[in-house]
Amino acid sequence: MPKTRVLGISYENVTLEEAVEDVMSLAANRRLGQAAYVVTPNPEISEACIKDERLAKAIAEANYIVPDGIGVIIASKIIGSPLKERVGGFDLATALLPQIAEQGLRLYLLGAKPGVAEKAAENIRKRFPKIRITGTQDGYFQSEKLVVDAISNAGADIVFVALGSPKQEYFMAKYRDILPANLLMGIGGSLDVFAGVAKRAPNIFIWLNLEWFYRLLCQPWRFARMLKLPKYLLGALSDRFIKQSRRKKDI
Ligand code: UDP
Repeated sequence: MPKTRVLGISYENVTLEEAVEDVMSLAANRRLGQAAYVVTPNPEISEACIKDERLAKAIAEANYIVPDGIGVIIASKIIGSPLKERVGGFDLATALLPQIAEQGLRLYLLGAKPGVAEKAAENIRKRFPKIRITGTQDGYFQSEKLVVDAISNAGADIVFVALGSPKQEYFMAKYRDILPANLLMGIGGSLDVFAGVAKRAPNIFIWLNLEWFYRLLCQPWRFARMLKLPKYLLGALSDRFIKQSRRKKDI
């Protein structure tokens, strides 16, 4: 699979359609006694990796890394190794659902506030009546062990892990050997959207790559988190200049 390195993270350089195919093949069976796991870093997560070694390790050890956020795509262009397109956690999870239903794989939903995962399951079942959702669990639990036992008892080929970052990346890296699933996938706030408690940006914002701006309008407290974006893009610029000056020296 072609990979593109952007500011320390090796992303799959794929379209959404290609990602669905790859992830479904990871979900088909368990390899080497471990669940494969998928992460979807955005610029904020990428910046957090600089200070958070545990997060950086959890991302580096993921089996499949796709870019969530237009910021990563812009940075890849600045660096001169353009990624094909943004493949966000929500879009990937949405595109996987009909395939999961079609192939009869078992899905478990973990995360979000109490009641949200159940509502998400109900809405998903309405859209895909054939889908096998074996269980749900909110993301505000006290005992990780009880949650791991509950998922194991329910039986799941795929677990959508919606605990937000870095909690979901820590969780997947820590329990990939223990959970009997084939695939774990970090999906951030997607259960809130499936449940209808949060709304995705209107299409016009998505087409214009301004989904981040819509989220900022709805959740202004995200402003501090978004301040990481300019720093991230400056990092891409400096990466480009370093590469260019190395090339000049080589000539
Ligand atoms: N969340 C959770 N447990 C926690 C913290 C967060 O289940 O301890 C959930 C939260 O309810 C929300 C999701 O994780 O559904 C994170 O959403 P956010 O929009 O912050 O994530 P993003 O999509 O930006 O990664």
